[in-house]
Amino acid sequence: MDYKDLANLIFPDIKDISYYEEKYPKRNLKEGAIVTRFAPSPTGFVHIGGLYQSLIARKLANQTEGVFFLRIEDTDQKREVENGVIDIVNSLKNFGLEPDEGMISETEEKGSYGPYRQSKRKEIYQSYAKYLISQGKAYPCFCSPEEIEETREKQEAAKIRPGYYSVWAKCRNITVEEAIEKIKNGEKYIIRFKSPGREDRKIKHHDVIKGNVTFPENDQDIVIIKADGLPTYHFAHAVDDHLMGTTHVIRGDEWLSSVPLHLQLFQELGFKAPKYAHIAPIMKNDNGNKRKLSKRKDPEAAVSYYDEQGIPKEAVKEYLLNIANSNFENWRKQNKEKGIEEFELQLNKMSVSGALFDMVKLYDVGKTVISMFSAEEVYNNALNWAKKYDKELEEILQDKEYALKVFGIERGNKKPRKDIAKWSDVKENISYMYDEIFENQEKSYPYQAINEKEDIRKILEEYIKIYDENDDKQTWFDKIKELSGKLGYAKEVKEFKANPEMYKAHVGDVSTVLRVALTMRTNTPDMYEIMKILGKEKIEKRFKKAIENL
Ligand code: GLU
Repeated sequence: MDYKDLANLIFPDIKDISYYEEKYPKRNLKEGAIVTRFAPSPTGFVHIGGLYQSLIARKLANQTEGVFFLRIEDTDQKREVENGVIDIVNSLKNFGLEPDEGMISETEEKGSYGPYRQSKRKEIYQSYAKYLISQGKAYPCFCSPEEIEETREKQEAAKIRPGYYSVWAKCRNITVEEAIEKIKNGEKYIIRFKSPGREDRKIKHHDVIKGNVTFPENDQDIVIIKADGLPTYHFAHAVDDHLMGTTHVIRGDEWLSSVPLHLQLFQELGFKAPKYAHIAPIMKNDNGNKRKLSKRKDPEAAVSYYDEQGIPKEAVKEYLLNIANSNFENWRKQNKEKGIEEFELQLNKMSVSGALFDMVKLYDVGKTVISMFSAEEVYNNALNWAKKYDKELEEILQDKEYALKVFGIERGNKKPRKDIAKWSDVKENISYMYDEIFENQEKSYPYQAINEKEDIRKILEEYIKIYDENDDKQTWFDKIKELSGKLGYAKEVKEFKANPEMYKAHVGDVSTVLRVALTMRTNTPDMYEIMKILGKEKIEKRFKKAIENL
């Protein structure tokens, strides 16, 4: 009896690997094309780090006319949650990072290298496990979980490296006959890889991001097929990335230390190993301490947070590229109008240690990104967000024509307004343009230099008499100047500065009174445009209210 008999006994009805090797031929792509993937487990939480990886993977595939696919790693079925797959699919879709192949809904997929869901690939893994067994490179292990636990305790007590290796690998040297007999007797088993490695030897490896790394060889006989017949991550990784033609495995650097094992698996399976690019995690500055963004502590760790807050996907992607390649910032300065697709991302320029993710910077990027949007784009995005998260905002945006005027204030010019960082800012930002919100706001008028009741009343009463909706901007401003002069304020700020004792205040202070009475704010975009949109009647009404509240 030989290894083949053992392999046939364990996997009697499983196809030969040649079947799969033929079914999934080498991809026909141009030289240098990068084939890469996002391979999450559907455990219910799409982390911003996953989006970061996907953005990088998607971009590299685009840059090289390669392929980006989505593979669902659902071999740990205990951890799977309802809607886990669809959440992942939708997250990528929402951010415009759709894969070329892979799952496109909870159940459907596209592409000819599937199934793209590991739980549907059981026979494929078993075929390769059978192959390894038939070569004497894998074996059934009959140790019970209790025995494994006992071994671990012994190792711990003796301060010995834990694991299933060397003398601790009890089933490694069981003869084929013995194994066959145990199986025939109905003993339970799993399949382990027979590692050819030795811990006292080193391997050198070049990681595309981390550079040269040296590790001891792997000598652990890891489990490749579990009791439920499904593979472990390590084995599935080797089989899938081989059959799916992955050229670059781009993944979190928590997997870096598994590289010796993975290279060994590729070697023993007779596969060409892919290139590895291990991405450092996204970090957060927590009161001076740099730590990983945590699922538990940081709401911004979840991709869903960006949708809820209405942070534009363009801003998130732009900011992630900032983190990914430090030369992005410079590129952006020189190419203000270009889309991020035009930026050439380079893996070897990625930071080796974790990059800091700073929400304040993200909001700044958001402001710049939104400032480049047309009024129509702002409107559409704000409305879409409002439909999901803010009924009141949705309501006020129903009058599209008016909203476009509001969003059009100081937009489309050289120095567009930069006051919206996220869609959830919009309501607060434009509330004074809508009576239905403005009138319900608590009345508070932050007057500045001019704050005497009588002075304010006078300015408002006089101004409404001369305001004309048809004035052009110059005339409009000249009128404020004239009024200032008439009421004893300096018509020019310069004049006021030169002779402060001669005036009560200056034209800018008069404008502030108008602005505060009109909006209850000291800061707004262009007041000329605001007045024109509101119209004389509303202006008058608001001035009256302001006077009542003096
Ligand atoms: N399912 C693994 C994870 O979520 C994938 C790692 C990989 O990309 O290979 O960490």
